[in-house]
Amino acid sequence: MLYRQRLVLIFCLAGAIFGPHSVLGQDTKSSQADDSNIIRPKMFDVTAMDTTADPCEDFDQYACGTWRKNNPVPPDQVFWARYNQTGEYNRMVLRKILEQAAIPAQGRSETAKIAGDFYASCMDETSVNRAGVSPLEAQLKQIAAISSREGLIDALARLHATGVPAMFEFGARPDLHDATREVAVMVQGGLGLPDREYYLSQNEESKRTQARYVAHIAAMLKLFGDAPDLAEKEAGAVLEVEKIMAAASLDRVSMRDPKNHDHKTTVKSLDTLAPNLLIARFFKALGAPSFQDIYVAPPDFFEKLSVAIGSVPLDTWKVYLKWHLAQTNAPFLSEPFVKEDFEFERRFLNGQKEIEPRWKRCVSTADRLLGEALGRLYIEQTFTPETKRRTLEMVKLEEEALAENIGQLPWMTAETRRQALAKLNAVTNKIGYPEKWLNYSSVSIKRNDLATNVRNTLAFQRNYNLQKIGHPRDTSEWIVTTPTVNAYYYSPENSINFPAGVFQPPLFDSTMDDAVNFGAIGWLIGHELTHGFDDQGSKFDGQGNLVNWWTLNDREEFDKRTSCIADEYQQFVVVDDIHLNGRLTLGENTADNGGIRIAFAAMHKAAAEKGGDAAPIDGFTSEQRFFISFAQQWCANVTPERLRVIAKIDPHSPVRFRTLGTLGDYSEFAKSFGCKSGQKMSRPNACRVW
Ligand SMILES: [Zn+2]
Repeated sequence: MLYRQRLVLIFCLAGAIFGPHSVLGQDTKSSQADDSNIIRPKMFDVTAMDTTADPCEDFDQYACGTWRKNNPVPPDQVFWARYNQTGEYNRMVLRKILEQAAIPAQGRSETAKIAGDFYASCMDETSVNRAGVSPLEAQLKQIAAISSREGLIDALARLHATGVPAMFEFGARPDLHDATREVAVMVQGGLGLPDREYYLSQNEESKRTQARYVAHIAAMLKLFGDAPDLAEKEAGAVLEVEKIMAAASLDRVSMRDPKNHDHKTTVKSLDTLAPNLLIARFFKALGAPSFQDIYVAPPDFFEKLSVAIGSVPLDTWKVYLKWHLAQTNAPFLSEPFVKEDFEFERRFLNGQKEIEPRWKRCVSTADRLLGEALGRLYIEQTFTPETKRRTLEMVKLEEEALAENIGQLPWMTAETRRQALAKLNAVTNKIGYPEKWLNYSSVSIKRNDLATNVRNTLAFQRNYNLQKIGHPRDTSEWIVTTPTVNAYYYSPENSINFPAGVFQPPLFDSTMDDAVNFGAIGWLIGHELTHGFDDQGSKFDGQGNLVNWWTLNDREEFDKRTSCIADEYQQFVVVDDIHLNGRLTLGENTADNGGIRIAFAAMHKAAAEKGGDAAPIDGFTSEQRFFISFAQQWCANVTPERLRVIAKIDPHSPVRFRTLGTLGDYSEFAKSFGCKSGQKMSRPNACRVW
């Protein structure tokens, strides 16, 4: 799901930690038993709390203090939250499924054979190490043979075809103005570091990162056989060419604004704008279907990239392509590649101390690359119709609660209100798993050739995505895999989506009282619904089209309220002196702000249907349990290195601030715990949008 994720995904618990670039390869010889730190968290855990803390001053400490003290970040992770424990538990479940599927028994289903053989090839470390760099040899030769601009573009297209998105991203996405159809989209990209800021900022941290990055590229080039002196020079040139692309790119806040994606042009005009891209040749070499119209985000990036293709020496572009081939594939190659990749991507950038055991990396890779084969096996063991029924009941109550809120907003006029309700009525939901599964039978998988298997599956995904261009959108598709512990709102179909993996503690437990389920999965449902009305979602209508359904005045009132949230979160200090980016995280914070209110109201609706509020449990009222359950999803420790990356790239606030910000703005929270106005968890000028 590489491309769909990179272009459009809105994750809601937290972003994919490393995007599409995952690490895989040699085990470190850790003495730690493989799964010694895997405990399935409880839904509501009084032993996680620090009841000596004042809930009105720091509710995160109150709900999570003891958990945090007892659960440092494990050496093979960079972020450790209670819901990550669920993710780890999930990987154990998937491991058992894959180990079973990997036994070449008679009567294995086609699905089990594909997923199982892939996993076997991944666990076959001996074959991986013996192969060395040979799985990439054909591609390296193609790059070495480039002697003209035509040759450069052909090689670029061949890399894209096998999942290496050098220079930019290209694929299918629903049309911004007719979401029923898939169109071609080109988006800025091509950087090896996580964000343009690393290239453009002049501070010490950026300089240190750039120097380490150049050393990392050089190390990879040396592993490909380049002479040490040459490799260092080449690596420096790669940094310079990526700096050009970084300078031509928009920042992440601008890229959140749909208007910066709304540049529809024709292939012919794009060719005039960026002649050196030889764009028609690129599409043909890639195997894209023929099409006339294309969205380009942003046009300026491609104009400048074209100039750079004309001015930067061909030899530099050849090294650039070689480096990106290495960056995508290193995790699947022999030990020296895996080690070098780990040292930079994980240890240096994110503060991870040890590489994950091989089985964990192999399970994650199988999930990422063959997610719908694995999901099909997973679902047979984990998801029940009862879970779906209860979730649908909650969704219904929450939609009612949001409709009531919209009906009562004092700042909204009748005209906009009518439109907002129409959009809410059009929301669809997906719960559990896809109605039809992707068929991987055309992917060739060998039991002893991991890197080739990865290339084949990436090529399959790539081609699957490309062939959608010009066709109606398939409404049955998901953009995350079934075992994923997360959820999302998807603008083009105005849908909320909850994969089977999310229905586990600390988000959902069918044996627990309503209060704790509404505080967790109920909040998440409210959060996803609110995404349809955040600063981004509110620009799309109920049919998923970019349409302004607001009166000018109402939009101004809305902007005032979202600015309140942006300013509030901007005050939070993430690490050292780095502040949270209030505009980058605005959509998520707005969804949190609305989600808690909707879930709280829905909990009361559910209680009313059952004849009133439930009696206190463990000494807490149902309202208090609701808020503790909400906060306990987020109990977390994070490495300082990872926090620095999150501050730059993640549209989600670090989890501690999701608790402090969301609850500090909600008067019902203050009431439940008897907080007085002006205490930290009871903001006098509380922000509210929906
Ligand atoms: Zn979200």
